[in-house]
Amino acid sequence: MGDTILKLDGKTALVFGVASEESIAYAICKSLSSAGCNLVLGFQPRFRSRIQQLLPTLPKNTQIHPIDVNKPDSISNFYKSWQAESPGQKANIVIHAIGFAPREAFDRNLLFVDSDPIDTALRISAHSLQSILRSGLPHLAPESSTITLTYAASTRHVPSYGLMSIAKAALEAWVREIAARLGPDGHRVNAISAGPIKTLAASGIPGFEGILDHVERNSPLRRNVDQMDVAGAATWLASPLSSGVTAQVIHVDGGYSSTMVPEDVNR
Ligand code: NAD
Repeated sequence: MGDTILKLDGKTALVFGVASEESIAYAICKSLSSAGCNLVLGFQPRFRSRIQQLLPTLPKNTQIHPIDVNKPDSISNFYKSWQAESPGQKANIVIHAIGFAPREAFDRNLLFVDSDPIDTALRISAHSLQSILRSGLPHLAPESSTITLTYAASTRHVPSYGLMSIAKAALEAWVREIAARLGPDGHRVNAISAGPIKTLAASGIPGFEGILDHVERNSPLRRNVDQMDVAGAATWLASPLSSGVTAQVIHVDGGYSSTMVPEDVNR
């Protein structure tokens, strides 16, 4: 029998994707730190002042280092900056909660979006998982757990989600491929497919309120999930309680992804 308790005391988590109190990654920080983890945050430079405001709400030893995954040097500089502050420290947990697509990717018919915004969305929202782990490999502790955030539009059409659907499909493929390469060394990589939650990133998706309303009426739990629902699953995936789970997409969506015909179809 393996361990059956949530053991995260003294573990170190690299968390990418905190931009505000509403960020899913912020809830994951809260949950991981209450389970005993040390936090090392990689923040996008444009959110520096918000991160500094949030810092007092996180454990005293929380570190913050800038990172822009759209710039390769910035990824290696993140690791240099962390290692300069904590030489030799290893990461037991990596949270990748990064997503972005340029505005025109939402405003235009997807068929007519140019290559540049497509490249940007895929680089930031999908390939950055590979870039972060590639540079981070020498700093991973044995049996590390990486968790990324995805959305069910990766496999089924959602109006207005457009280019992000393609980025999420690529991200989920990266999860499987990286998990296959790192698994023999004992490292795990999984994705959480979250239901819709009001955050900064979500506010850029046209018609988001309508999606929230639809999911609330039609998911088996008859409610939307919140950041803490996702953080609970992430903390489980980060812990030895999930030691046999890798290369998976775990749905935290009130069961919505299990449905096909909406409950309110005849109303
Ligand atoms: P958020 O806006 O709080 O987080 C998005 C994060 O991505 C921000 O912290 C931002 O700084 C970061 N980011 C964007 N471009 C970056 C770059 N170039 N370099 C470094 N960081 C960059 O919103 P969120 O909803 O918490 O999003 C977190 C993840 O969850 C995203 O991958 C999102 O697609 C995913 N997700 C969100 C929902 C939802 O409904 N909110 C549902 C499913 C999945």
